[in-house]
Amino acid sequence: MSKVIVVGSSNIDYTVSVERLPRPGETVMARDVVQSFGGKGANQAVAAKRAGADVVFLTKLGADANGKLLERHFSAQGLPLTAILRDHKAASGVAFVWIDNKGNNQIAVVPGSNRLLTAEDVRRAATLMAGSRVLLVQMEIESATIHEALTLARRNRLMTVLNPAPARPLSSDLLSLVDVLTPNTAEVQVLAGQPHPEDAAKILVKRGAGSVIVTCGAEGALLVGRQDTRRCPAFVVDTIDSTGAGDAFNGALACALADGESMETAIEIGAAAGALATTKRGAQEAIPSRREIEELGEGGRRARRCGAWASAGQSSPTRFARRR
Ligand code: ADP
Repeated sequence: MSKVIVVGSSNIDYTVSVERLPRPGETVMARDVVQSFGGKGANQAVAAKRAGADVVFLTKLGADANGKLLERHFSAQGLPLTAILRDHKAASGVAFVWIDNKGNNQIAVVPGSNRLLTAEDVRRAATLMAGSRVLLVQMEIESATIHEALTLARRNRLMTVLNPAPARPLSSDLLSLVDVLTPNTAEVQVLAGQPHPEDAAKILVKRGAGSVIVTCGAEGALLVGRQDTRRCPAFVVDTIDSTGAGDAFNGALACALADGESMETAIEIGAAAGALATTKRGAQEAIPSRREIEELGEGGRRARRCGAWASAGQSSPTRFARRR
């Protein structure tokens, strides 16, 4: 099975439902609180696994009850515990999400042990990269750790995918270690300082990224390479909650690239996973299986919002391979 290594964060999320968000100094009574598994690293590791990849997840947990909960969860998801590290002094990462009746939210993330995942940890785990095809990393961990993961992946000839979320400025040095950069429309704007997604992506390619996939929610995705720009339309689904669409997209994309699929097909597989993730509530709970992705890929093609792939007036058919 094609192997993907994911380096990133793990959190326990507490989602508090309130009628309206509290003003500074105000107390509001909440309807309920739901505890779930989160962290972009964990979400994307689970997404790559459900899409069919053999996944190694390098993350750091605390030595608290949440750390134990996360460890049991990863085991249940079929993620090996070989690369799950523990810091014996820190607390595991947690995120507090308040959501009001209108769907507006406020989020506070306490990174805890995620901040203690170091470049040295990545070096110690470097042997796990052997045999992997793709590295997938996000930005809820320290920059030095991201840099080391990308450097070692390059040295070991892995394809590198960086999901720059949450976005913060990236050096050209770091961008030149990235084969595929996957910002959403808000993130690409922060990274390039340019409001137009395609122009912003072009700037990032000029600054060293191999190619940039800008995910545009229900509008699909843009693939910006050195030569041209192409558009992948979104699948039409009944969306109820778009949380985690990007994580589902990235995990499935990494799985497909590790399978040796073309970039276009990998984006289609990512787009199917992202679309399906919006049809259920939650982040990890909503991540689809390989079978669900294949079914949407086969049945959903004709129902595309705006036809097939498009690039400067031409379209190209893509194959959506069903895994035997
Ligand atoms: P993020 O969650 O990081 O903001 P996006 O919202 O851009 O990421 O979603 C990632 C991908 O998931 C999109 O490129 C698209 O293919 C798919 N997707 C997201 N929202 C929808 C939607 N409402 N309908 C269909 N596909 C969607």
